Amino acid sequence: RDLPGDPETGPDVRQVHGALYSRVEPTPVAAPVLLAHSAEMAATLGFSEADVASAEFAAVFGGNALLDGMQPYAANYGGHQFGHWAGQLGDGRAISLGETINAAGERWELQLKGAGPTPYSRSADGRAVLRSSIREFLCSEAMHHLGVPTTRALSLVGTGDAVVRDMFYDGHPQAEPGAIVCRVAPSFIRFGNFELPASRGDNEVLQKLLDFCIRRDFPELSGAGGDLYAQWFAQVCERTAVLMAHWMRVGFVHGVMNTDNLSILGLTIDYGPYGWIDNYDPDWTPNTTDAGRRRYRYGQQPQVAYWNLSRLAGALSVLIPVEVLQDGLRRYVDTYNAAEGDSIARKLGLRECGESDVVLMQELRDWLQRHEADMTIFFRALAKVDVASDIADTQVFADAWYDAEKRDEGEAALRAWLARYAERARADAMPASERVARMNAANPRYVLRNYLAQQAIDRAEQGDPDGVRELLEVMRRPFEDQPGREAFAAKRPDWARVKAGCSM
Ligand code: AMP
Ligand code: MG
Ligand code: MG
Repeated sequence: RDLPGDPETGPDVRQVHGALYSRVEPTPVAAPVLLAHSAEMAATLGFSEADVASAEFAAVFGGNALLDGMQPYAANYGGHQFGHWAGQLGDGRAISLGETINAAGERWELQLKGAGPTPYSRSADGRAVLRSSIREFLCSEAMHHLGVPTTRALSLVGTGDAVVRDMFYDGHPQAEPGAIVCRVAPSFIRFGNFELPASRGDNEVLQKLLDFCIRRDFPELSGAGGDLYAQWFAQVCERTAVLMAHWMRVGFVHGVMNTDNLSILGLTIDYGPYGWIDNYDPDWTPNTTDAGRRRYRYGQQPQVAYWNLSRLAGALSVLIPVEVLQDGLRRYVDTYNAAEGDSIARKLGLRECGESDVVLMQELRDWLQRHEADMTIFFRALAKVDVASDIADTQVFADAWYDAEKRDEGEAALRAWLARYAERARADAMPASERVARMNAANPRYVLRNYLAQQAIDRAEQGDPDGVRELLEVMRRPFEDQPGREAFAAKRPDWARVKAGCSM
């Protein structure tokens, strides 16, 4: 690595100037135990199942040992939180162990989340609780299998240590089991890594980071000729736009879209108080601290990503001409619209999305919201509608409703919409089997509903991690109907209605 490092070691908390990271080692834990792992990620990194089962594996990914060549460090970044510049923020509880090149020649960075304090920990402890670690572990892998760009998760290790947190519902401190996720990505660089040196006027460090990031994380751009910075920023904008279209396709709500939580590679990063849409509601947010303004609600995500890109552009404006940055932002809008059109075509089972199809989809969404239909169940069932027939069978949607009265009120409008949809699908003339296959590859049967994760958490907190493993198993094939696992595709039960996600 040729980044300027901080020569000091140890987690003395401080403002770190003139450096992009600090060397810091994980703080050992009492009794690391592997609770779950991703078989795909282990294989990708070249670990055998025997390696994974070894005590050494739990020790390394619990922060108690290092493998040869690991050089742990915490990155230095800041960010805009909820619309305001927040200064230096992290990595307060993430420690990168290093990078590895696998047999396929891919470069992966391995990072422990919850491995103890770093210079960036501010007033917090650098640790993570079991429930939030389970949520990050499961959702990282679930998103990957849903076809959504994301950081991955290799392992979930229980630490044997207690972690004290103020629970959001009563404000009283409570000891909870601690855990550590090893997350994996080609790069963990965030918008906020650029913003921090820019905010301090440290153009030299900013330039180094930019050149390093392009060289390491965007190798395809090197040697492309033309204006390298322009191509790079356009790429960042495009990837972010594609990511937003994916989130909207599957009903994922990030919940904390601060600029320190947006990846320069357009990966979903930082699984905190995220949630999944049950009844379709663009105003829903899983983040209880955002409940008032709902800045990070589902329907707002594409706009917030644009705002975040604007902050990134602002940080880069000392190095990149403003017109170039504006071109990139325009690219974001164009790419998002194209990706959203593609998503509409796939969700509705059409070859292409024309202007009138955008309207057709918007009418459906308005209707789903008004009548409280479950997003995932509805779109999955839509493939079962026989578009050759004029009389729509609304029975295929029987499982999608949360409120029978609202369903009945909307029945006539639904029939009218389905008639127009069937006509449109007939005009498209895609063979029925092709249409169904196209839809079933875009509309998942299984998503990581908040209550499903919560059930796995409850079991794990009682000492039984099998619920986590089973849920991971289901989420590995979200587009396939899995016989015997219908319960995992069920709509949110009543008891789970107001249960929000947890961030810490
Ligand atoms: P988040 O909103 O979850 O992205 O958190 C913002 C920043 O707070 C992170 O980048 C971390 O640096 C820091 N942070 C969150 N939780 C902890 C913790 N338990 N210990 C230290 N730092 C933390
Ligand atoms: Mg974060
Ligand atoms: Mg977080």
